This record gives sequence, C-alpha cells and structure tokens, in this order.
Amino acid sequence: MNLNEVIQKQRDFAFSGKAKDLSFRRGALKKLKQILLENEQALYQAIHQDFKKSQFETYMTELSLIHHEINLNLKKLKRWSRPQRVWTNLANFPGRSFIMPQPYGHTLIIGAWNYPFQLTLVPLISAVAAGNNCILKPSELSSNASKILAQLINTHFDPAFLYVAEGGAEVTQELLSHKFDKIFFTGSTAIGKLVAKAAAEHLTPVTLELGGKSPCIVLADCDLKIAAQRIAWGKCLNAGQTCVAPDYVLVERSFYEAFLSELKAQMSKVVGPNPLQSESYLRIINARHFQRLEKLIDQDKVYAGGTTNAAENFIEPTILRDIKFSDEVMKEEIFGPILPVIPFDRLDEVIMEIKQRPHPLALYVFGKNEKRISRILQETSFGGGAVNDVLIHLSNSRLPFGGVGTSGMGAYHGEHGFKNFSHYKSILSRPSWFELPIKYAPYKGWKLKIIRLLLGS
Ligand code: NAD
Repeated sequence: MNLNEVIQKQRDFAFSGKAKDLSFRRGALKKLKQILLENEQALYQAIHQDFKKSQFETYMTELSLIHHEINLNLKKLKRWSRPQRVWTNLANFPGRSFIMPQPYGHTLIIGAWNYPFQLTLVPLISAVAAGNNCILKPSELSSNASKILAQLINTHFDPAFLYVAEGGAEVTQELLSHKFDKIFFTGSTAIGKLVAKAAAEHLTPVTLELGGKSPCIVLADCDLKIAAQRIAWGKCLNAGQTCVAPDYVLVERSFYEAFLSELKAQMSKVVGPNPLQSESYLRIINARHFQRLEKLIDQDKVYAGGTTNAAENFIEPTILRDIKFSDEVMKEEIFGPILPVIPFDRLDEVIMEIKQRPHPLALYVFGKNEKRISRILQETSFGGGAVNDVLIHLSNSRLPFGGVGTSGMGAYHGEHGFKNFSHYKSILSRPSWFELPIKYAPYKGWKLKIIRLLLGS
C-alpha cells in the first residue's frame, strides 16, 4: 500500500469513529503492550545496533516509560474520557455546563532519533487512549529502531488505524503536505518551524517538542558530591544525546575548582576508566553528528576527557573549563557528551544571561538556599526542570512535559498527553421551561440595570 492510500484509509477510518469506542481503545493498548513484551529482545537489539545503547539504559529510559504510560492510560482512560461538569453562571440559570473530550481524529506523530521508542510510542499511546488513529514517522537516523517499529506496528495493526511510515525528510514533507487533524512533532527547533508552517496551511493544531541549551546552575551551598554525581549521570546518559541533558553548567566562582575536580571524578565513575570499552556507554548516532561534536572540543579548554575515535563515532565524556558565553560551544545545543563549565560571580548576571537567550527546554538548580532557588525558578522561563537533580522531572507523568518559546509548545505525558490529543468541547445545556425576557428588545433602562447585575459589573 502506498502512503497516499494509507492516508485515505486513515481519513475514512477517522470518519467512521471506530477508534472512539472505549473498548476499542483499551483493546489496542493491551495489544500494543503484548507486542512490546513479546518482542522486547528485538527492541533491545535494534537500538544497540543503532548506537550501542545497553539493555539497562533502554529499559530505564525507553521501555519503562512506555509500559507505565500504557498501564496508566488503561486505568484512567474511562475517567479521562467522561464529560466533566462545571458550574453554570447565574446569567445562564437554569442550565447544565459540561466539557466533553473529543478525539481530533486522524493524527500524525513525527519522532526524533535519540529515544526512538518512547518519543514515538508515548504520544501514540495518548493518541490511541484519546480515541484517535495515527501515522507514526520515526527518525531515519536510528534506522534499526525505525525498522522494528514499522515491522511490529504494520504487521499487527490495521494500517487504517495505526501505521508506521519509514523514511527521511522527503517522507515527512510528503506527509506534511496532507491534512491531518493533529500533528505532534519531536525534533529540532529548525525543523519544528517547518512543521508549524506546514500545519498552518491546514490550520492543524500542532505540538512541538523541541530542544535548546538547558542550563544547570550550581550554587556554592549545594551538596558537592551529589551535584557532581547527578550532573555527570545526566550528561553521560545516552552519551549526552538527550533533549533535557544539562547543556552547560554555571558554577559560583568560590566553588569552581572544587566542583570541576569532583565532576571529573564522578564522570569517570559513571562511565568507568575506559569508556571506549564500556558496555554502558553509547556512541554518537552518526558521522555527521560526530564531526559536529568533535569540532566543539577546544583542546586548550579540556579539563577532562577530550579523546575521540572517528571509526567508532566515539566521544569521551568531556569537561571544558573557563568557557565564555561567546565561545562556539555556547552557540547551539550541544546534544553530545561535552560539558562546558562556566564560573559566575553574581546570581543577577546568570539570571540576566538566561533571560536574554532563547527559552530552554529544561533548567536545573543545585543548592540549599530556598530564596535563591525560588528566585531562579521564578525569574527565568523554561519548559520544566528539577532542583538538586537533572532529567528526572520527565519520569513523573503527573508533570506536563514540554517546552516554551523556541523549545516548543504544548506538553504531554499521563493525562496531559490525553488532553493533548483531545479537543475539549464546551456545552451549555438549557431546559425550555424558563426564558429570561429581558434579553430581548426593546432595551429599556431598567433592563440594563438588571443585565448589569446578572452579568456581574
Ligand atoms: P530533527 O529535527 O533533525 O528530526 C526530527 C524529525 O524530523 C525526523 O523524523 C526527521 O526525519 C524529520 N526531518 C528532518 N529534516 C526534515 C526536513 N527538512 N523536513 C521535514 N522533516 C524533516 O531532529 P533530530 O536530530 O531527530 O533530534 C534532535 C533534536 O530534537 C534536538 O534539538 C533535541 O533537543 C530535540 N529533541 C527534543 C525532545 C523533546 O521532547 N522536546 C526530545 C528529543 C529530541
């Protein structure tokens, strides 16, 4: 079946309303869960072939989140799908007001390569739970993950309901030329703009899960060891190819040398003495990204790490010291295991610097002083973040996950995902036995007095 035929079949399927049925939604989620469990080894193998990701990390950062979302949606989708009653205002008395979630219909999910399973399947689970059908377009860069997703979904589900379209930019562009009822995109800010433009053509609602440079602020009163350990872990996970990885660290100057030394020690603990041989440390996804990252390593500023191996697309976790905001490494999102560490003197400077830059997807603060932490959280704009840790906010599905400004629009995970794939219809239902005569002309002075009273000014 070619792509045009799939799209037509999906449109017809959405029109039929079949996916709205609650037992259909549940059945599809249960089936997906079973397929993923039965093929778990094949999923591990595919992602290992793509960039040497270990089974442990794949489970922790991909499969566990997917299974959690399936279980949560199975448990809650009946409640989330119910119309919600809200109060009716005096002017509309007597009446009943309620909000009805309604699936958008035919949806498109476009994924990034760095977490190829969860970035496609978590939104897909929300789309299905909310009653939509869907075309999934995984990234061609993690080609083995894309292949296994296509194999599993396309052989086990009716393509009119769920279909994986494999391929590169040309396939995404072809898809985007069609009208969908909702588009969910994860990827870079640059491609996010193209997706938003294409969606605007059909006035399709769009969620953009994008990237950016996520800062990590280390205050001098933090627990040094824990801060260094957690930052090292967050940067080495997925070899730094994580949208919410700490992109750079800002450290109070009085604490700078102590922090650098502890960070170096913790980094080598996280990846072991020889990361090239480590089974737990990943490769860079391809030669293009390897070369891009290699250029960012200014050997004069390397404090730890810095070795590379082009044949293996390997980059050692690298700490850069005495970096300035004007340096090359501070211009674009790094998206790899290179961590610039910048000293600062005053919190004002740091807040100002972050405020002047594009809004990051994540921000992290390490410290104990509640007043200073709260000041940072309140004065800066970012997607989400953590205090005294990194990355972990996205593992709590009660927290909406998404960016702001150039790091994205819209959010998902848990109920937020269900809401993301639903339109909320507002209904005010009135009985016929009572009608307020004053709303009809002729408009007399006394009527204005009453209407002012009723409408509240
Ligand atoms: P990307 O934007 O290059 O690709 C994303 C998707 O867009 C892929 O499926 C790709 O095939 C498609 N695409 C690429 N070029 C295209 C074009 N010219 N026209 C149409 N489609 C095109 O992003 P990536 O390299 O896969 O991922 C890295 C970026 O994604 C980073 O910026 C990272 O921060 C961000 N990211 C964000 C999140 C999040 O949840 N906010 C998660 C992961 C990655």
